[in-house]
Amino acid sequence: MPESRVAQTDVAVVGGGIAGLTAAAYLSRAGADVTVFEKAYQLGGRAATREADGFLFNRGGHALYTGGAASGAFEELGVSYDQGTPKDTFVLSGGKISAFPADPLGLLRTDLLNAGDKLALFRFFVEVGRANPHALADTSVREWIDLKVRRPQLRRLMTAVARTFAYTTALDVVSAEMFVEKLQRSLKHPVHYVDGGWRVLVDGLRAAAERSGARIVGDAHVEGVESSGGRARGVRLRGGGTVQASAVVVATGPRDAARLVDGGGHHALLRVVDGLVSAPIACLDVALERLPVPGRPVVQDLDGPRFASAQSVYTPRVAPGGGALVITFKQLDPRLLGDPREEERDLEDLLDAAQPGWREVLVRRQYLPRIEAVGALPLAAEGGFAGRPDVAAPGIGGLYLAGDWVGPEGFLVDASVASARRAAGLALEDGAVERGKVAVGSAR
Ligand SMILES: Cc1cc2nc3c(=O)[nH]c(=O)nc-3n(C[C@H](O)[C@H](O)[C@H](O)COP(=O)(O)OP(=O)(O)OC[C@H]3O[C@@H](n4cnc5c(N)ncnc54)[C@H](O)[C@@H]3O)c2cc1C
Repeated sequence: MPESRVAQTDVAVVGGGIAGLTAAAYLSRAGADVTVFEKAYQLGGRAATREADGFLFNRGGHALYTGGAASGAFEELGVSYDQGTPKDTFVLSGGKISAFPADPLGLLRTDLLNAGDKLALFRFFVEVGRANPHALADTSVREWIDLKVRRPQLRRLMTAVARTFAYTTALDVVSAEMFVEKLQRSLKHPVHYVDGGWRVLVDGLRAAAERSGARIVGDAHVEGVESSGGRARGVRLRGGGTVQASAVVVATGPRDAARLVDGGGHHALLRVVDGLVSAPIACLDVALERLPVPGRPVVQDLDGPRFASAQSVYTPRVAPGGGALVITFKQLDPRLLGDPREEERDLEDLLDAAQPGWREVLVRRQYLPRIEAVGALPLAAEGGFAGRPDVAAPGIGGLYLAGDWVGPEGFLVDASVASARRAAGLALEDGAVERGKVAVGSAR
C-alpha cells in the first residue's frame, strides 16, 4: 500500500484494534501526525466482525457495558451506533429452564428464590450500592461471595453472574474490585448489543481518527520497536522499511508487545507480561434460518459456566430477514484448560436446552475454542486493576502500552479505551509533537 512508505511520523501506533484506533483518534485530534500499523488486512482485532451468508459474526459474543471509559470516549469522538438491550433472561437449573429477570431488582420477583433469599438479595444489593470497589482490590471474588452471600441458592446465582461478568471460572484469583464495580454499574447503566456488530465501533473510531488526519495502514506487520539511548525511536516493518517516530504506542496483546521490544529480550517488560493471567473462553455462535423458541432469547446456566443469547432478537441487522444469530460461550479456568471438543459439545448441549431444534435450521456455525476475552484478569494477589502493567512501558522512554491488559482503569474494552487515551495523553505531554503545534494534553 502506498501509505506504508511513510518514513516518519510523530507517533507510530502498533495494532489497529479498539485500543490502537482510540489512541490514534485522540492523538490526531490533538494535532499529532499519527500512523497506525495493523498486521491483518481487516482492522478491529478482537472487535472485528465477519459477514457470512448475510449473518454478522463478532469474534464471539460481545456486549458493551455502558457507563465506563469506552462509552464515554465513543460519545466524545462521535462514534455512534444503533443498539438493543438484552432482556427476557431465563436460567437453566437442574435441567429445567425458568424465567429470570435480568434487571437486578426484577430478580426479587422470580420464583427461583424463596422469600428468605429475596430479602437477603435485597440487602445484598443495598450493600453493593454502598461498597467501595477499590477497598476490595485485594479480595478475590470467591472470598467476597462466600463472605457476603450465605444462602446456597443465592450463592449459586451470584457465582454464575460473577463468571459471566469476569469471563472466567477462576473466581478464586480474580479481584472482587472488578465484580463489585460491574455490579454497581449494571444497576445504573444498560448493556448494549451493537446492531451491525462491533465493526460499527471499529469503523466509527477509524473515521474519527482519519477525520483528524491519522494514517491507517492495514497488512503492515511491525517486527520490532526501534530504540536507542533508552528511548523508542520508531518501528521496523516486516518486509523491510523503518518508520521513525517520537513516540510509539504498542496496542497489541501482551505477548506480542513483549516480542516487539529488544527482539523479545527486554527484561523489565518481560517481567511485567510474564505474571499476567488472561481469560480464554470457548465461543460457539450459530446462524439459524429462524429462532426455534423466540420467547427464550437469553439463557444463563446456573449449573455450569455457560451462557447463550439470541442477539439478533435485539439487534436485527446481525441476521438476514427471518434468520437468527445465537451466541454461546463457556467460561474456562486458564490454569486447567480441557478438551476444546468437549467444550463445543457442552455448548451444543446448552443450545439443545435453550433452543431445541436448532440443528435442523442451522445455516452455519463459528467455533472459537480458545479466544482471549480478557488480555489480563485483575488479580486479587496483585491488588486488582492497579496491578496491571503501567501505560508508560518500563525502562524505555517514549514507549506506551494500551489494551485490555494495561492500566488501572476498567475491564475489557473499557480498559483498552482508558489505557489508549492515557497513552495518547502521555505521548503528547512527553513532547511527541513539536511544541507550539499542539496544545499539549488536549487528549487527556
Ligand atoms: C469472545 C469475546 C467476547 C468479548 N466480550 C466482550 C464484551 O462483552 N464486552 C467488552 O467490553 N469486551 C468484550 N471482549 C473484549 C474486547 O473484544 C477487547 O477488550 C477489545 O476488542 C480489545 O481491543 P484491543 O485493541 O485492546 O486488542 P485487540 O483487539 O487484540 O487488537 C490488537 C491488534 O494488534 C494487532 N497486532 C498484533 N501484533 C501486531 C504487529 N506485530 N504488528 C501490527 N499489528 C499487530 C492485532 O492484529 C490486533 O488487530 C470480548 C472479547 C472476546 C474475544
